[in-house]
Amino acid sequence: MLSKHINPESLIRDSKDKTHHHHIAGTDPSRIPHPYTARYGTSSIPRFRIPSKGINADSAYTLIRDELALDAAPSLNLASFINTWMPEPANKLTMENLSKNFVDQDEYPMTQVIHTRCISILANLWHAPSADQAIGTATTGSSEAIQLGGLAMKRLWQERRKAAGKSIHEPGPNIVMGANAQVALEKFARYFEVECRLVPVTVDSKYRLDPKKAMEYVDENTIGVYVILGSTYTGHYEPVKEMSDLLDEYEKHTGHFVPIHVDAASGGFIAPFAHPKLVWDFRLPRVVSINTSGHKFGLAYVGVGWAIWRSKKYLPKDLIFELHYLGSVEYSFSLNFSRPAHPIILQYFNLIHLGFEGYRAIALADLKNARLLSRALEHTGWYTVLSDVHRHKSEISKSAQTTAGIDEENPESYEEGLPVVAFRFSDAFQQEYPEVQQVWIQTLLRAKGWVVPNYELPPTLENVQILRVVVREHMSEPLVDRFLCNIVEITRDLIDKSSPNHALDMIGRHSDRTNPTRLGRLDEGSGSRSSGTYAKPC
Ligand SMILES: *Cc1c(COP(=O)(O)O)cnc(C)c1O
Repeated sequence: MLSKHINPESLIRDSKDKTHHHHIAGTDPSRIPHPYTARYGTSSIPRFRIPSKGINADSAYTLIRDELALDAAPSLNLASFINTWMPEPANKLTMENLSKNFVDQDEYPMTQVIHTRCISILANLWHAPSADQAIGTATTGSSEAIQLGGLAMKRLWQERRKAAGKSIHEPGPNIVMGANAQVALEKFARYFEVECRLVPVTVDSKYRLDPKKAMEYVDENTIGVYVILGSTYTGHYEPVKEMSDLLDEYEKHTGHFVPIHVDAASGGFIAPFAHPKLVWDFRLPRVVSINTSGHKFGLAYVGVGWAIWRSKKYLPKDLIFELHYLGSVEYSFSLNFSRPAHPIILQYFNLIHLGFEGYRAIALADLKNARLLSRALEHTGWYTVLSDVHRHKSEISKSAQTTAGIDEENPESYEEGLPVVAFRFSDAFQQEYPEVQQVWIQTLLRAKGWVVPNYELPPTLENVQILRVVVREHMSEPLVDRFLCNIVEITRDLIDKSSPNHALDMIGRHSDRTNPTRLGRLDEGSGSRSSGTYAKPC
């Protein structure tokens, strides 16, 4: 009887050769200056305890690099919004500033100046009424910035309650957001003890916050509404203006001020450039704070986000700490003390290197490639695309019934949103091939190197699974083309009825293709085709 329970750790331990290199006369491999024959070439690396003796840096480097080779290639990771490429001079700046701690304001004053410039630039870009009044800080990412935005709103609500002689404990504060909220938003509620009111999403609400429904969750203890630009699930922008208008009306009737914090983790660096006419930012007086991730479409390396308040008025003073111990008086209103300075410097590099036009060109190119991918997927008939950036506004808006407004050349005629393609098996596909599971697409794409997540939509659409591709700068047309070929190939193989157990047999046939005997085609005279490997033409 074969055992089903095999523990890989003990399997390795029990199968090891019992010889020790010091038993082999005359050769002690650890003396040979070569990473693989050094200590851990012949004995195992202690993984869970610190080794008593170290190894030389070259060997440590080689061993770690080899293990990391099993990670996905960052450029094929289509799951992530995180930027993975910067031009060479940026890499140089990184290396030159790698050891600077951002918090040492006195020691690195120019880093501070650069930081302040970035805040002013973003405050202006997002139409703060006065960039002098605006205040902000770099963070390690949007997550930290979201905690700060939430904390400021919580404190303001407490101040308003106290001033009105009301309790801040019974009932306690609440915050409203769509059920599609990124985890950082829900974290704020749980970590800082604010009741989290999640507004369910529907197909009609385009898988995101429905402002009218959100109003059912708002009351006098609502510290604010988190509005997302745009949704991590499908890239849809949430309707900030509509939410703001409804809250204006609510305030008129009840006297309760409910501010908006916009989570523009991705959209903060897409909307101002690709959708400049869209009103979502400080042009709306109710938007008191905005966060963005410099390391997403801000195009810096991972480790920088931004939190900006429209005015000092909305950042309560008791959240700002005065630090005296590093030299002069310094001010801090972040969760981290130490943090790397280089991602902030890289953000500034991008701002002056790309400028408005550079960011715009990249955002428009990303959106164009997202449209290409979306349309091609829909043309297969196998897939339905849930994101809408490939649709013309006139197709979507119920008020514009005619197609007269369609202008293929004009990027502004398309629905606004992030360059994200969220898709699923079409209804027709699911009916015809009920045995084919969508998650297999994720697995089979991974075998080709692509990372594309398959996951459920938020409540009440949790029975719908989507595959999602974030179209970033490096996802050029040739890469989109290769990706499409691969996904078409994989899907076709899954439904290829000519093979018994066609779907489940897929992985077997994939490994078959690496069998060299099947590469004979090249020798048979068809090898002049440049794509003449074992890959199917597509
Ligand atoms: C990525 C993301 C976050 C978290 O941002 P980090 O920079 O990864 O901390 C929060 N909200 C939204 C909408 C996001 O897309």
